[in-house]
Amino acid sequence: MSQVQRMSRLMVKTLRDDPADAETLSHKLLVRAGYVRRTSAGIWSWLPLGKKVLDNISRVVREEMDAIGAQEVLLPALLPREPYEASGRWEEYGDLLFRLKDRKGADYLLGPTHEEIFTQVVKDQCTSYKDLPVMLYQIQTKYRDEARPRSGVLRGREFQMKDSYSFDTTDEGLVESYALHRAAYQKIFARLGLDFRIVSAVSGAMGGSASEEFLAPAAAGEDTFVDCPACDYAANTEAVTFAATVPAAVEPGPVEELDTPDTPTIETLAAHLGVPASATLKNLLVKIDGEITAVGVPGDREVDLGKLGEHLAPAVVELVTAEDFEDRPELVRGYVGPQGLKIRYIADPRIALGTAWITGANKPGTHARNVVCGRDFEVDDYLDVVVVEEGDPCPACGTGLKLDRAIEIGHIFQLGRKYADTFQLDVLGQQGKPVRVTMGSYGIGVSRAVAALAEQSADEQGLCWPREIAPADVHVVAAGKALQTELALDVSEQLSAAGLRVLVDERPGVSPGVKFTDAELIGVPKILVAGRRSAEGVVELKDRRTGEREELTVAEAISRLT
Ligand code: ATP
Ligand code: MG
Ligand code: MG
Ligand code: MG
Repeated sequence: MSQVQRMSRLMVKTLRDDPADAETLSHKLLVRAGYVRRTSAGIWSWLPLGKKVLDNISRVVREEMDAIGAQEVLLPALLPREPYEASGRWEEYGDLLFRLKDRKGADYLLGPTHEEIFTQVVKDQCTSYKDLPVMLYQIQTKYRDEARPRSGVLRGREFQMKDSYSFDTTDEGLVESYALHRAAYQKIFARLGLDFRIVSAVSGAMGGSASEEFLAPAAAGEDTFVDCPACDYAANTEAVTFAATVPAAVEPGPVEELDTPDTPTIETLAAHLGVPASATLKNLLVKIDGEITAVGVPGDREVDLGKLGEHLAPAVVELVTAEDFEDRPELVRGYVGPQGLKIRYIADPRIALGTAWITGANKPGTHARNVVCGRDFEVDDYLDVVVVEEGDPCPACGTGLKLDRAIEIGHIFQLGRKYADTFQLDVLGQQGKPVRVTMGSYGIGVSRAVAALAEQSADEQGLCWPREIAPADVHVVAAGKALQTELALDVSEQLSAAGLRVLVDERPGVSPGVKFTDAELIGVPKILVAGRRSAEGVVELKDRRTGEREELTVAEAISRLT
């Protein structure tokens, strides 16, 4: 079977201009090069070139997951409510969850992640310690009704994820399964040609303990992380600033109206909250001199309301409203107070989410629930708070830290027994007694990886894929008339016979200039041009990344490429 793909028959329509709504490089280029098309907000169609890249990434992921002994399965994307009700996530996910009803009125959801369903499958299939450990994975479409799906496939509302789950009878077993995944992820991202860091992470809505993220540094990333220029220390700022998570029980309360003028004083705030003006407050969101501010944070930086009053004497304090969050999807709350009280942190996304919902009333004097410690949640829900800023000393070596943006491409968790407890997942132990299973969960954003790779490897001319991921190994261009076309097709057949994946641009009536521009945009790593020296059997081989060109005989070019 010929591997030669002719451009004249390929469904690809390249665009010269960036799509109007595109903000990130990968979004612009993947659309312009004809890899994806937007179907609806955050919902993308993968066209032939894009599907090839997506499949190449999936292949690498599969190979490395299989190599650690994980078994591939495919669980449904359309899921019943009950297991998610049991775990609490039917509610906890809030607006992120796509919920729907069947014809009989029963509740369903489109799976955002599958811990519940995998736990049930293993409960059904594994009954003895002899059946464990087991690692299962799938590459499945996930659904999350993201608030701002605006960076193309980087943040879809429908997207492809590889998710896997490990099931062990012992804590040591879980640590080992986690280590296997961690190593597999390192191999996967290295093979994909991604520059990445492994950072400790908050476990967020997943619950559980140890958790690390794989971050691909890129300007378009929505994560901020600190990176030590001198040693290998790196951490997600969320993890550095909040070393613990808020319990699942935290849910948004109703909107409350403050019976105060638009600019409340510390006294009116305190009265409204039902605390003395000398109280210690945690995580009340207000605006101070126009900046969104968290009054009080847990740990030793908690703020005495009375003292805050003194600090803020000349400042204008206002309550936050929905407008304050409109352009702040990441809900960064910052506070720089006078007199050395300097706090900068990124809130736990869940608190911020609650806050955003509740401030949705968008009136002055609206107070956000779930932001006041003691009333909305307990201080013990936080273990530690460290504040981090650019230039702060690295905890490992003391060098000044750098703050950078990155794309979260993977995330691994030691879940522990959270889901096993929910579903009473036990197996018969060696001693004949039931043993509660301990779990890990591990995700890779397969469709996001396409965009992350594009972000990291593209240049002004267009996309520029590493060979293993590219839609073809070589892009042959017939730059001329019949003679060049004949040579291009002939070389293409030879390359294909040698096992290469070949894309050949033999489109009649298309100028060499347009073909070159398209080749650069599409980003196949090697470009072979049959041009003005075709009569002598001389072609030009160009490296897409370096731009280096060489004139070679056909035979030389073929041996160079194979
Ligand atoms: P983010 O912080 O970017 O919202 P997440 O932490 O919510 O991601 P996880 O629940 O950890 O995501 O899911 C595992 C992986 O799935 C992520 O590491 C990421 O690569 C990918 N992913 C998550 N959400 C999306 C999305 N909306 N579109 C594409 N990929 C996604
Ligand atoms: Mg998310
Ligand atoms: Mg995340
Ligand atoms: Mg994550």
